[in-house]
Amino acid sequence: MRSQFLPFSTPSISEEEIRDVVDVLRSGWITTGAKCGRFEDAFSEYTGAAGSVAVCSATGGMHCLLQALGIGLGDEVITPAMTWVSTVNLICLQGATPVFADVDRDTLLVTRETIEPLITDKTRLIIPVHFAGAPVDLDSIRELASERGIALIEDAAHAAGTKYKGSFVGKQGTSVFSFHPIKNMTTGEGGMVCSDDQDLLTKVKSLKFHGLAVDSFDRQAQGRTPQAQVMQPGYKYNLTDISASLGLGQLAQLDVFNAKRQELAEHYQTRLRGISEIIPLATPDYPHTHAWHLFIVRVDSDKTGMDRNQFMAGLKERNIGTGLHFRAVHLQKYYAETFGLKKGMLPNTEWNSDRILSLPLCPAMSTADVDDVIDAMQDTLAGKH
Ligand SMILES: *Cc1c(COP(=O)(O)O)cnc(C)c1O
Repeated sequence: MRSQFLPFSTPSISEEEIRDVVDVLRSGWITTGAKCGRFEDAFSEYTGAAGSVAVCSATGGMHCLLQALGIGLGDEVITPAMTWVSTVNLICLQGATPVFADVDRDTLLVTRETIEPLITDKTRLIIPVHFAGAPVDLDSIRELASERGIALIEDAAHAAGTKYKGSFVGKQGTSVFSFHPIKNMTTGEGGMVCSDDQDLLTKVKSLKFHGLAVDSFDRQAQGRTPQAQVMQPGYKYNLTDISASLGLGQLAQLDVFNAKRQELAEHYQTRLRGISEIIPLATPDYPHTHAWHLFIVRVDSDKTGMDRNQFMAGLKERNIGTGLHFRAVHLQKYYAETFGLKKGMLPNTEWNSDRILSLPLCPAMSTADVDDVIDAMQDTLAGKH
């Protein structure tokens, strides 16, 4: 057994990145400024996006987008229930109604087939999630959205570095990335909105900073007028230059990080072939580059005689940390009660919600750490204490 606890994920931050952050702290300008501008440009250059706007979190970015699209009372927004609660909370806070699409049982991705039957004349927006680092089948979902005249925003929180058919997620359409510490790259907290719709980006840029026509750096930059006009009431979701500085360093490392994640994921896949009680996710059959944000497995409780929670507890006793991404949103207290949602509505989501866990995966790990996880899993399954 491991003597030291293996956390589910730790960020990889270099001494150079730490020095860059300290330089910003000493520079006299620590909030949104030149570093944020450089980070936005670098992110656009990396993904191929027409434009990017840095925000304080993916949640903040999504909030600005919903507001910019005018999502409100009476509108329906289709999104999976196998996701983080943030998007669904925002849909409700805007006064709109979330409509939950089921996912493919083995990829946890929504598909055209699970979305299309849910479309009504109130549907204004579809928010698919690129889950665990794998892309949804964008061609078919884009086609559906455009046929029906419905907006599309990709939740790309798991998809920094993901490619769909040769293009980075973020290049086309509108997507939101997260830089929370467990994501593939981090800024402490932070996010990025990428879009090829310049009007939408301009609105997000204003909404993330009080609804002003410009942000505070522009206001203080030389030669600008010191007063800016409120164009509409906005939020306070800007990213700091402290965070953007870290983001620039992390983005430069992203390909190295993701290659390491892939190596570890492949090692998991190989080792798991010998353990029939534990079922990893499948990967999509269309061309893609997986960002391996998460390595998710399902516990086959019929074979193991123990449920997921017991299995997670067994791993913890053996010094292995795990995560749970995610518990089905539609069965959370508020959603179940408010919208009268019950078990049985989303069979694939629910089946997975009861069985999934995320194994440790981050660039700081080695394949020997993966072997430790496998040993602890086998030990737990054998019921040894
Ligand atoms: C992490 C996450 C978010 C939210 O990201 P924040 O930057 O923490 O706001 C949204 N959607 C999914 C699927 C996530 O995993």
